Amino acid sequence: MTAEELGSVNERYEALEASIRAYNPNADFDKIRRAFEYARDKHIHQRRKDGSPYITHPLAVAQVVSDMHLDSESIMAALLHDCIEDTDATHEEIAKLFSPAVAELVEGVTKLTRVQYISKEEEQMENLRKMLMAMSKDIRVILVKIADRLHNMRTMDYQTAEKQKQKSLETMEIYAPLAHRLGMQKVKWELEDRSLRYLDPVGYRDINDKLEVHRAQHEAFMAHIQSQIEERLKEISVDYTKVYGRIKHTYSIYRKMYSQGKTLEQIYDLFAFRVIVKTIPDCYNVLGVMHDLYKPVLGRFKDYIGTPKPNMYQSLHTTVIGDEGIPFEVQIRTEEMHQIAEYGIAAHWKYKQNGQGAGSERTYEWVRKLLENQESSDAEEFIHNLKVDMFSDEVFVFTPSGDVVNLPAGATPIDFAYSIHSAVGNSMVSCKVNNRIVTFDYPLQNGDIVEVVTSKAAHGPSRDWMNIAKSSEARNKIRQWFKKEKREENVARGKLSFDSELKHAGLTLSEITSWENLPAVLKKMSYGSIDDMYAAIGYGGLSSLKAVNRIRDELWRERRTAQAAQKAAEMEELSRSAAAPPPPVPAKRHSENGVIVEGLGNCLVKFAKCCAPVPGDPIVGFVTRGYGVSVHRVDCPNARHNSRDPEEAARWVKVAWGSDTRESYQTSLELVSKDRDGLVLDISAMLSTAKVRVLSFSSRGMPDGFAITSIVLEVTGSEQLELLMKKLKGIQGVMDVKRPTG
Ligand code: MN
Repeated sequence: MTAEELGSVNERYEALEASIRAYNPNADFDKIRRAFEYARDKHIHQRRKDGSPYITHPLAVAQVVSDMHLDSESIMAALLHDCIEDTDATHEEIAKLFSPAVAELVEGVTKLTRVQYISKEEEQMENLRKMLMAMSKDIRVILVKIADRLHNMRTMDYQTAEKQKQKSLETMEIYAPLAHRLGMQKVKWELEDRSLRYLDPVGYRDINDKLEVHRAQHEAFMAHIQSQIEERLKEISVDYTKVYGRIKHTYSIYRKMYSQGKTLEQIYDLFAFRVIVKTIPDCYNVLGVMHDLYKPVLGRFKDYIGTPKPNMYQSLHTTVIGDEGIPFEVQIRTEEMHQIAEYGIAAHWKYKQNGQGAGSERTYEWVRKLLENQESSDAEEFIHNLKVDMFSDEVFVFTPSGDVVNLPAGATPIDFAYSIHSAVGNSMVSCKVNNRIVTFDYPLQNGDIVEVVTSKAAHGPSRDWMNIAKSSEARNKIRQWFKKEKREENVARGKLSFDSELKHAGLTLSEITSWENLPAVLKKMSYGSIDDMYAAIGYGGLSSLKAVNRIRDELWRERRTAQAAQKAAEMEELSRSAAAPPPPVPAKRHSENGVIVEGLGNCLVKFAKCCAPVPGDPIVGFVTRGYGVSVHRVDCPNARHNSRDPEEAARWVKVAWGSDTRESYQTSLELVSKDRDGLVLDISAMLSTAKVRVLSFSSRGMPDGFAITSIVLEVTGSEQLELLMKKLKGIQGVMDVKRPTG
């Protein structure tokens, strides 16, 4: 580094410090400065592709991290993020000099840097995104990594054309969606625009050239609208922080033009205005003002304040048309909402942590919750995000050729091998993880490269594998193998196990084998002979307990029927001789969740999600395999006679509401309305006067001027629900209120 370069690098550091001081005056400046000096000295002989000293990159990344208003540890991690990968610095040294937490962050970023992106299939990309999330146990790792990628994209001009394309594709597929998921709009837009520049230079330039031609005109329009809004707000003295207009970012224009085959002129909302106010009531105030000042476009109003997006985004959106006949979107939000919209999780950081370095556990937990808290989002977003239950229950590993395989957490080489193919599992003799031989019970870690060694001479799986494997896929395949390969052994094992279970049940083998109805019962269980059943028990396809219970139940039923017939005959005899006494009224019958199941006491009762019955509704039950009885409304499409599987006819049972129903039951309503201002307010006012507990509420406008409102609520029973539906129907604009089914 020349003296001049050193001077400029140090100057940049001072600027960084100043910007941190502006939002976090209590930052650990002593350590931050030492981190900078350490990184500067470690990278001293390295240069970037553009010739500048390497340290300019970590400095710029730290600057981005500071723009996100992150804590001291994140800043240090940004400064040190390439040290482990590119210099002789070690984890231990960084832990000693700074802190174990900083070393963990740097290590985390390094691990993400090492992940190779080979595959380009969409499914693989989703897996990669999930893997990155899962690998970053501390969300700050992802934030620093995104900052790193942002600066790399800003300086991509110096890379080869091939590298530009590859990095841009990764950015578009992995990092921009991650930024979106974390709610970081501003970063997401910049990542997308910069990637588009390399992925489709012609398309990118085309849009920007066209925008450039109309630039003066656009700016005049935006300035005009801005001052119109400001004037009106002053007139009615609404206290606002800022009003400004902008043109949509290039990539979102690009997407609209190409996916919807539109020209730039046809894009409906090229312009977006933001009004930042002080309070939430003011947001709604300003909304009224906008609709008064301009002509609102029907069905374009969205209340993300009442119903935030899954990534916590909040704002009111409306589209209006001014005197010029040009439609534009107005987004109204408070300052805090604005920060969160721009910086997403990073802004939450600031609000929730008060600038203190947070225990990663807590943060992790919190972010996970945030990303899971998607119940109140719009349907499409919800489905999309559902795919990302990223953290605890999955692990992501690579095949030697770079494909990502996801397995349940705790999965072992056995699970991996069988997930590739059962032949691979059956002929596995050893396994390497990251080039080292591991035992078959090794729990795979995110990012591991797993290689299975197979041999034709392999003996096949051992029975222990069934206990080691974590996935039912692997266990099933192992079971299949035993079923096929070891019939005699299975029959012997099965018989032994069946016999001992039978003794527990107080029956003898000869009692069973001599029973004349046994073949019929076996046939019902789909076994041709008792040996077949033994074999199934032997390979683990059927538990001996289940087999015994089934056969015993059949046997007892037969005996009971015989007894009952005898009793009935006796009763008839009796009643003929005397006036029949009234049949005994059963004492209070046991109910489960307020439901009595005919013929079954004490069984698990659940309410079907599809139709959510409440007390008073006519109901019917379905005996599920292993999860108790699922209760449907009689009019639920899933319970209708003609849609029932004839093979499962016997599973439909009579159920009735008991006298001891619970205090409340969850169900849902769907309203179709002609959209109008205040509709949502009227509906929620009605719900609150009716004193029902609302679990979720979402309303969305349709392009044709209708609105669909979905409400999940708790009621005592059908009476209360019907009354409520009647009241809701009375609201002006509401055309239909129904209980969704199916
Ligand atoms: Mn870097």
